This record gives sequence, C-alpha cells and structure tokens, in this order.
Amino acid sequence: TRDKKTLLITGGAGFIGSNFITYFLKAHDNYEIVNLDKLTYAGSLANLREAEGYHNYHFIEGDIADESVVEMVFADFDIDGIIHFAAESHVDKSIADTKPFITTNVVGTVNLLQTAKRDWEQKGVLAERRFHHISTDEVYGSLDEDGAFTEETPYDPRNPYSASKASANMLVKSYHNTYGMNVVISSSSNNYGPRQHDEKLIPTIIRNALAGESIPIYGDGQNIRDWLYVTDHCHALDAVFHHGNTGESYNIGGRNERTNLDMTNRICGLLDVYQPDRKKQLKLTNFKDLITFVDDRPGHDRRYAVDDSKIRQTLGWMPEVELDQGLAETVSWYINKWEQQVQ
Ligand code: NAD
Repeated sequence: TRDKKTLLITGGAGFIGSNFITYFLKAHDNYEIVNLDKLTYAGSLANLREAEGYHNYHFIEGDIADESVVEMVFADFDIDGIIHFAAESHVDKSIADTKPFITTNVVGTVNLLQTAKRDWEQKGVLAERRFHHISTDEVYGSLDEDGAFTEETPYDPRNPYSASKASANMLVKSYHNTYGMNVVISSSSNNYGPRQHDEKLIPTIIRNALAGESIPIYGDGQNIRDWLYVTDHCHALDAVFHHGNTGESYNIGGRNERTNLDMTNRICGLLDVYQPDRKKQLKLTNFKDLITFVDDRPGHDRRYAVDDSKIRQTLGWMPEVELDQGLAETVSWYINKWEQQVQ
C-alpha cells in the first residue's frame, strides 16, 4: 500500500474548488492532490497561490470534455478518489448559450465517470474508490413561501444551467445503480466568500458600488436565496467525501435565507463603514443609493431553500460562520484585491 492517496479535483481553479484545495491541503497531509482545470474565464491560478507552496499539490491544465485528457490523467496517476467541481456555473451565460453547459457539465461528467469506472474496475476497486459530484440546490427547482428541498425532492430544473447539473446528477446516480460505483452527491445552496468570479452577484455589488456605478438588482429584489460561507461548504464536502453513505445525496445549507435586496443592503452598509472616503468622493449619502432595479432574469427562480438536517444529523456538520461575519470578510477581501490591482 502507498503512504499517500491521490485525490483528483476537477475545476480546482474556480471559486469553490480553490477554496477547497487550500483548505484540504492544510487539513490532510496524507493525500496527493491533482487539480485538473481547463482555466476557462472562470478559473484562475491566482486562486491557488497558497496551494502552490505544497509539494503534494499538482496542477494539470486540461478539459474534462476531452476524453483523452481524462484518460491521460488516469494513466499518469493512480486516482483513489474524485471530487468533481468543474462546471460552467453562471446561470445568465447558460441562458445566452446552452451548449458549453452540456459539453462541460454533462459530457465532461460522463467522461470522468466512464474513465474512472474502467480504471477502477480493472484494479478491482470500483466499490471502494469514491466519486463525489458537487451539485446545487437549483436542481430542485423553485419554491414559494414555505418548505425546503429535501434529498428526496424530485428534480425540477428550470434554467439550462440547473438542467445540465440535474442531468449530471442523474448520470452519477445511474453509475451507482448500474455498475455499483461508489458515488456521493452534495447539493449546496449559494456560496459566498473570497475568490468568487467578478461576474457573480456579490462581487458585482461591491465592484459597482466602489466605482460609483449603479448596482443592478433583478426584478423587485425579492428573490430569496440561502447563503453559505464557502469554507463552511468545504468542511461539509470533507465530511461527505470521507463519511457519506455510498449512492446517497446530501443537501448543504447555510440556514441564511435572504432576499437579494437584503443582501445588497447589508453589503452597502459594510462599504459605508469601510470606505467612507470613497463614499465622500462619489458624493453619496449611502452606497445603497446606487441600487437600480433592472428587468428580471427570464425564468428567475423565486426561492431556494434546502433542508440540510440529513448532513447535520448523520455526519455532525454545521456551519460556523455567521452571515455578517462572512460578508465582512468577503467585502474586505474584494476591496483588498482590487486595491492591489490598481497599484
Ligand atoms: P466557477 O465557475 O468559479 O469554477 C469552475 C471551474 O471549473 C473553473 O476553474 C473552470 O476553469 C473549470 N472548468 C470549467 N469547464 C471546465 C472543463 N471543461 N474542464 C476542466 N475544467 C473546467 O464555479 P464554482 O462557483 O466554484 O462552482 C464549482 C461547482 O460547485 C460547480 O459544479 C457548481 O455547479 C457547484 N455549485 C456552485 C455554487 C455556488 O454558489 N457557486 C453553489 C452550488 C453548487
């Protein structure tokens, strides 16, 4: 037996993957980490500066949608487990052009499943080695006032992004049912925190506010999302990867349901405190005066909420970071990042 196991991470240069790798390298020294990432517009090696200091961290630039790339990774490394983050992840982009979402999120996932199955079957370890698919609560569709999605809620994806993620989930489940592959799926609510791509809601609010530009809010701003701090998500993923039951799904939530408008107001309030000089320069009374309501996103889901009692009860996980604390850290991180870019 080898001293170290080899964990394949896909999409590790993105928001959640890079936070996960950074966390995992510190938490576990008995793994070699292989990060396979295409470095699309959403991925950045700057997210991995800390990881690069570890001798047990390896980066491969490559596309999971290209089967020969995935096969090469399995030929070069004896992969003991996979945590699959790589995806096209921006809903608005999926509405403008669906194809890349099918290529990466569906075909890419199949390439990983098929290659892992072949390799692990050959080695007689198919039932042992773990395939963990990172998914989203968006696969369950949209909620009105009450209730929350459980792991048993049927999938009802309502935009091309969530449809591609639901397809991938179903393929992952089918590999468990058909071949006995050792899979787990985790579906989390909206993540926030450092290293998220500038295109997403929270970085957009901060960037536009600091530039004195209008802060666009879809529709009436009353869409509700549940917010989870990214490091809390990473701890949950560690628990699911190591201790989740094979073939099962786990919902991961923050129990922080907030309207988009409320989140925007909170962030503007933090900027009022952190950036008083900038506010004065821009001749604003409050940063929130920049909020502008824009036409709603087509098919905009009203509310997502997950029931995460399963992971709490069976794996003992719970989030540790309060929303205001997490937001304060996030806002400071972006201010710092953009100040460094200006210099
Ligand atoms: P992200 O867009 O920040 O990062 C995606 C990463 O995948 C990037 O580094 C990109 O270069 C890489 N990638 C894209 N296509 C690839 C390909 N064909 N081959 C190899 N690499 C490729 O996304 P994220 O927000 O970090 O999300 C990671 C995962 O978590 C996704 O599967 C997403 O569906 C899921 N998720 C995200 C959230 C959230 O709030 N961000 C919530 C729930 C689930």
